[in-house]
Amino acid sequence: MQHSIRVGVRVEGVVQGVGFRPYVHGLAHRFGLSGRVGNDTAGVFMEIEGAEQAVSEFLATLPAQAPPLAVIEQVRTHLLAPTGEPGFHIVSSHAAGRRDTLISADTATCADCLREMADPADRRFEYPFTNCTNCGPRFTIVRDVPYDRLFTTMAPFEMCQACSREYHDPADRRFHAQPVCCPACGPRLRLIDANGAELPGEPIAAAAELLRAGVVLAVKGLGGFHVAALAADAVATAELRARKHREDKPFAVMVADLDAARQLCEIDPVGEQVLSGRRRPVVLLTKRPDAPVAPAVAPGNRNLGLMLPYTPLHHLLLRDTAAPIVLTSGNISDEPIAYQDDDARQRLTGIADAYLTHNRAIHMRTDDSVVRVFRGAELPVRRSRGYAPEPLTLAQPVPCPILGCGAELKSTFCLARGRHAFISHHIGDLENYETLRSFTEGVEHFRRLFDITPEIVAHDLHPEYLSTKYAVDLADVELVGVQHHHAHIASCLADNREVGPVLGVAFDGTGYGSDGTLWGGEFLLTDLTRFQRMAHLVPVPLPGGTAAIRQPWRMAASYLGSDAPQDLIQRNAKHWDAVLAMASRGVNSPMTSSAGRLFDAVAAILGIRDSINYEGQAAVELEQRADLTELGSYSASITEGAPLQVHGVDLVQAVVADLRAGVTPEAIATRFHHGLADTIVRVCLMLRDITGIDVAALSGGVFQNVLLLERTVAALENVGFRVLTHSRVPPNDAGISLGQVAVAAATAQSGCRTR
Ligand code: ZN
Ligand code: ZN
Ligand code: FE
Repeated sequence: MQHSIRVGVRVEGVVQGVGFRPYVHGLAHRFGLSGRVGNDTAGVFMEIEGAEQAVSEFLATLPAQAPPLAVIEQVRTHLLAPTGEPGFHIVSSHAAGRRDTLISADTATCADCLREMADPADRRFEYPFTNCTNCGPRFTIVRDVPYDRLFTTMAPFEMCQACSREYHDPADRRFHAQPVCCPACGPRLRLIDANGAELPGEPIAAAAELLRAGVVLAVKGLGGFHVAALAADAVATAELRARKHREDKPFAVMVADLDAARQLCEIDPVGEQVLSGRRRPVVLLTKRPDAPVAPAVAPGNRNLGLMLPYTPLHHLLLRDTAAPIVLTSGNISDEPIAYQDDDARQRLTGIADAYLTHNRAIHMRTDDSVVRVFRGAELPVRRSRGYAPEPLTLAQPVPCPILGCGAELKSTFCLARGRHAFISHHIGDLENYETLRSFTEGVEHFRRLFDITPEIVAHDLHPEYLSTKYAVDLADVELVGVQHHHAHIASCLADNREVGPVLGVAFDGTGYGSDGTLWGGEFLLTDLTRFQRMAHLVPVPLPGGTAAIRQPWRMAASYLGSDAPQDLIQRNAKHWDAVLAMASRGVNSPMTSSAGRLFDAVAAILGIRDSINYEGQAAVELEQRADLTELGSYSASITEGAPLQVHGVDLVQAVVADLRAGVTPEAIATRFHHGLADTIVRVCLMLRDITGIDVAALSGGVFQNVLLLERTVAALENVGFRVLTHSRVPPNDAGISLGQVAVAAATAQSGCRTR
């Protein structure tokens, strides 16, 4: 008889809720091994016993053939004494001890589940909650760890015999799939009217009927309620917009499949991959001119945000409507998305005419993610459902647990321990009580899920941000204030698993500068520990403070004074003189070097928009106005010194000159983008001469602008720079929390209590 050995194995990474134990069970069978496998707070543990040869083959195969959703980060083994115990068992979870477990993100319905749902002979035929170990809800239903049904919102649903058999059969695809269910035992749909009365008929077919009749329908999804209307229905979409008090911000559109997507947008192969991948974000794509989409869906927008169905419910609904639908978050303007049934009914009163809802609770509110595609990779705009809470792996482990509190707009937080940075789902704009509560509850939930008690808390320097106030209120932690644009560049470094030094170009709306003025057009020589402001846009007054952010024409007034074009002055005649006076006397006019405000000025001068309804709108529309076939560029002068002064006003004046010469706004918009990109490159070249650094990192919300990004990256590479851009976290303020963590990890002074 061959010599038997027993080996203890520990696997860390995303290994719970992804079918790992059944996989191990099957593998052990294949190699004729006995032993056990289970989940604990650190991941998956197992004991494997059998012939030495078979055990080593088992260990070699283990990572290679792991289930699709598993992310194995580490496998450790140690020898044990053989026990001779026959068979292979899945043992129950150990809840005690420190939690190192990773929880996977919610995942789009897999092909196997879709096949079952389409098969009239299958017991899950057309069942809208079908899922398996390879797909379905995860983060949004998890209340606590370890990831077991008991600790999810599926706990109230007792499995029927058939489901229980699948759940306990190691050979089954649903073996230990925590949300497993079927029509006999699982959640049920209901279609109710605005008063809560149940509407007759099969809920999905009846809901589709309503949509086709022009009704605005609330739909309970994975991470919250959406409101839906037929995308081609001009009346319903306009009504939806009016009811939501959302004036211009584009709505996302869900289409049944890639074929339907191609009828609305131009999509390259990478775009198709992202659209149909397991994360299913909204992908911003170029709208086809003939796309059958009502004007109210994305007013003034060349792009359209598309997504494919990611739950069985969506698949069935899209099949029955047989047409694309708007699917936008269920809330009024900027409040967090509604996710609890009673709350949704209350908050969506007056918005939705009917509700397609169900009795599986959502534990964690999670908005749809949004991405653009840049150079064959994702450029995240919002990283949330389908991504959170999967951690980013850092270049180096953090010295002790850290919390990054983020900034204000597009808020996220980030908790880090070891090499893992857990960036939260999208919280929203942290400027009201609802969102702040969402933030604080989110931090508590993440702390519990990942068992992280932060010893260092990093925050923005802006004293008025609610995230800053939250941080300084915490007791018994080391506080680290991180300058906003330093955090932007650090976030880009962490995104690329690098540590610098780099020449960081941080262009955004505004952030609090170390000198108390508002920064936003910054060139920083930086690594994770410190930064030096090497160059910046010449500051101009922000007349009226936040009023100037809402009214881009004020920035045109600030840049040009009485040299502004007459029609711009006339359009805003009522307040023009007062705003000029305010700017020149410095009354309620903080100085800002913001690049975002430079875009605002140009957009107003071109007549694109004098006031905005959502953050960054003027810049978004200026990018869209550009005619990509146009050539030409403008030039901004740069004054030597430390720091270098970059004269944005030159670009603004070039815009006015071209406008007076009869050049089209489309051509001017292009030349402005080119001019700004070329200016960035010239500054970087000067800074390379001074510093010898030939790596550039581009971050800040302005670099969501793909036209600017493409031109800047190409031109920098042309002159020999290596260029870092974002592909894992957004360049906008959603990435700040990660940047804060990276800086705090590198600069923390105090000794850590834990390792
Ligand atoms: Zn599945
Ligand atoms: Zn069942
Ligand atoms: Fe920013």
